Amino acid sequence: SLLPSSTEEQVRSADRAHVFHSWSAQAMIDPLPIASAQGSYFADFAGKRYLDFSSQLVNINIGYQHPMLIAAIQEQAAKLCTVGPPFANDARSEAARLIAGVAPRGLDKVFFTNGGAEANENAVRMARLHTGRHKVFAAYRSYHGATAGAIALTGDPRRWDSEPGMPGIVRYWGPYLYRSAFHAETEAQESERALQHLRNLITVEGPHTVAAILLETVVGTNGILIPPEGYLTGVRALCDEFGIVMIADEVMAGFGRCGEWFAVDHWKVTPDLITFAKGVNSGYIPLGGVIIAEAIAATFETRAFPGGLTYSGHPLACASAVASINIFKDEGIIDNARMLGKDVIGSALHALAERHPSIGEVRGIGTFWALELVRDRDTREPLVPYNATGTAAAPMTRFASACKERGLWPFIHFNRTHIVPPCTTTSDEISEGIAILDEALIVADQYYTG
Ligand code: PLP
Repeated sequence: SLLPSSTEEQVRSADRAHVFHSWSAQAMIDPLPIASAQGSYFADFAGKRYLDFSSQLVNINIGYQHPMLIAAIQEQAAKLCTVGPPFANDARSEAARLIAGVAPRGLDKVFFTNGGAEANENAVRMARLHTGRHKVFAAYRSYHGATAGAIALTGDPRRWDSEPGMPGIVRYWGPYLYRSAFHAETEAQESERALQHLRNLITVEGPHTVAAILLETVVGTNGILIPPEGYLTGVRALCDEFGIVMIADEVMAGFGRCGEWFAVDHWKVTPDLITFAKGVNSGYIPLGGVIIAEAIAATFETRAFPGGLTYSGHPLACASAVASINIFKDEGIIDNARMLGKDVIGSALHALAERHPSIGEVRGIGTFWALELVRDRDTREPLVPYNATGTAAAPMTRFASACKERGLWPFIHFNRTHIVPPCTTTSDEISEGIAILDEALIVADQYYTG
């Protein structure tokens, strides 16, 4: 083999010596060396297996090491590893055809990127040029990526150190009944008031200056916030009324995560642009993109689109997307994710909430769930403060350790744990993970004061 086989200690020491990790103080981390992975599990060098309830960064929708996906990548690698964007390529053409085929009707063209941030950057550029306007509405409690524009669009603390960012961003509150910005008490009120708030902002900003409203169809890292009935339809109607481009960021919510091809399918709403990445090929090769409605594609029929990437539509990445979409269809993976949400995960989490006072709310859809952990169910005081680090984050860190000791890899963000396993996870595996959560939540309950 051309690749060296290393011991755990070699991996760890070379990592510490030479790898610069994202979002981290380099001296404060100790990344776990991973030796292998299969299906819903990965394993360390000691052979300890972890059931992955975080799908890495919520991207391994198809599970680890799917043999047919690996075979497709190998086949494409042997045929043609790389060719640039100015040429046509069969893997790229087929990936675009398949993606347009599962997208809402009327979104028929695909611009490929290497990931989610670049997808959002290019979607915003398209919206601005299409409308000739410059403002972009972006939500608090959102994540859109870490490049200059995408981090500026982001509505969470990861933006703070990159400010001031891209000009022209107008921040708004999306719906989140459990911690309502609108003093709402019902889903209907939350939806209506969030829409009125958007309308008011459009009015005072000047509708003729607003290019796009960007939203995560279901907000991911910032809480698995499911839009209340009527909200997405209402945003669509506002965009139509004022000539604004609706951009749905489905980087995390798309490709099966919500038990649909795209989360918007659940509410039967058609955005003008959909951004995707992650689940499109489960990150076996980096890939993302923008799916484009006819009217916006038409803008660039005779006028050049001023944007591109050396690896836009990379053949290896596109071949893996082709294989992944076909495997999703053949193996009923979308149906499995929908079934898990309806029949398995939701009921199991609600049962946990009956035993653990620290669970303030259970919410989710498909394989996209959150437990909101609190110190008091009445005041809803979060188990750890917003953006807590160090000792302030100890209750969540201890909860995470309790999961890991027992062989479950959790997704943790602030005071929440998200239950976001691969869409291919079996009901038995979910039960195994829930049993571990049941034990680990005893740690969270120790901080309950309500
Ligand atoms: N948009 C959403 C909703 C995401 O969750 C993410 C990544 O977590 C991104 C965009 C950025 O994607 P990438 O990390 O591939 O640039």
